[in-house]
Amino acid sequence: MPKYCPTCGNSSEKSRFFGNFCESCTKEKFSKGLPLIISISRCKRCGKIKAGGSYADPTTRNLEIAIGQQFGKNRVYLIEYEGSRAKLEVSFDTDHGTIAANHEVEIAYKKVLCEMCYKKACNYHEAVIQLRGNNHRINRFIEKVSRYFDLNNEFISKIEQADNGMDVYVSNKRMAAGLISKMKLHPTTSFTLAGVKNGKRIYKNTYALHFE
Ligand SMILES: [Zn+2]
Ligand SMILES: [Zn+2]
Repeated sequence: MPKYCPTCGNSSEKSRFFGNFCESCTKEKFSKGLPLIISISRCKRCGKIKAGGSYADPTTRNLEIAIGQQFGKNRVYLIEYEGSRAKLEVSFDTDHGTIAANHEVEIAYKKVLCEMCYKKACNYHEAVIQLRGNNHRINRFIEKVSRYFDLNNEFISKIEQADNGMDVYVSNKRMAAGLISKMKLHPTTSFTLAGVKNGKRIYKNTYALHFE
């Protein structure tokens, strides 16, 4: 006995069925429940988008992750996109098998400052590296810090001329300490209380280095 779809009258001899309904009606019903507008946060300074909890380059893969986050348990495959329109294939497991439907969405970009750009904008720094002594070695050290921080997505917030050297303000104290120890240098370290955040004392570290 063939089954007939109660919505469109299609028979199970001609079409695949998911429970009582034919494939195309099941897909249509499934598609109707999907979001049409997807809101994605995009940094107005660096262009990174929020994908999977952090900001990342707007690659196809990251865009797919950012869109997919808003489809709950459904799996999303990004077929193509242009400007703010994106074509997707969305699939969902049912008791009668997996349904995959093509779906189009409009991406609404929300202008934000990502955490890193926000920190840069307010000259955020966790540590100061005080460099004194030989100018040439100081400059080489600053180049190293700059490269190392860049590579690890952190930054130098400012460099100030000081008596007999330079003060380099950096965004991440753990990274500063790591680099200094990797270079087998032995700084004089001091800590200044900078404030309290969520009940925890926040210290600014100062690493003083002297180059002969
Ligand atoms: Zn049908
Ligand atoms: Zn940014």
